[in-house]
Amino acid sequence: MTTAQGHGAGATVLVVEDDDETRAVLARELSTRGYRVEEAADGATAIRRWEARRPDVVLLDLGLPDVDGLQVIRRIRREATTPIVILSGRYEEREKVEALERGADDYVTKPFGVEELHARLRVAMRHGAGPAADQQGRLGWGSLVLETERHEVRVAGARVDLSPIEFEILRVLLGNTGRLVTKARLLRSVWGEAYQGEDSYVYVHVSQLRRKLAAADPGGELRGLIVTEPGIGYRIGDRRP
Ligand code: CA
Repeated sequence: MTTAQGHGAGATVLVVEDDDETRAVLARELSTRGYRVEEAADGATAIRRWEARRPDVVLLDLGLPDVDGLQVIRRIRREATTPIVILSGRYEEREKVEALERGADDYVTKPFGVEELHARLRVAMRHGAGPAADQQGRLGWGSLVLETERHEVRVAGARVDLSPIEFEILRVLLGNTGRLVTKARLLRSVWGEAYQGEDSYVYVHVSQLRRKLAAADPGGELRGLIVTEPGIGYRIGDRRP
């Protein structure tokens, strides 16, 4: 097993959390993994620290004592695409969706494991570096290969016949591998601005896409490919066994 240490590789993370104990645990765990940690216990401090230090990634609790976490997101998004990962309570579904719609990149639900948090931060930061396609415009996951230019999807070498909408959904999800894609974002990317709120379109076409991929994959190797985040959206799952 490889060590988890050092994966933060000197990246600066701004931890915004008003609960002192949670913040201390996060700061300790993240510095152990090689991050430089900046801390803020309220929104005003968070904004000041962000302006002064320009961290590589922000870990943001939404329930802050002074300003709303959404205001912190708005402030950052006015001038930067710094990845923002939300720390959310279990019953804050609506707030979480709103934060994602306003430009947060992902979320973790409390209580969470440090490995999960670390994985989310890594994916959020990697995404800022560009899409995951290779030079030939190919995206892959296990035995699945999607060729953007040829508009072709193959599973273990055999072609899968997808509709243009199914192809687009898969392309957007694979292009954001590991990262949460909200239903609203899928609607915008695949159907266009006019379709906001038509969540059932997404549901129907993702189901159909899953059926076709399952039929092309009798061994069930792609079973964990498209993971549903209930009420929020989808992500391409982790490939690790
Ligand atoms: Ca809080």
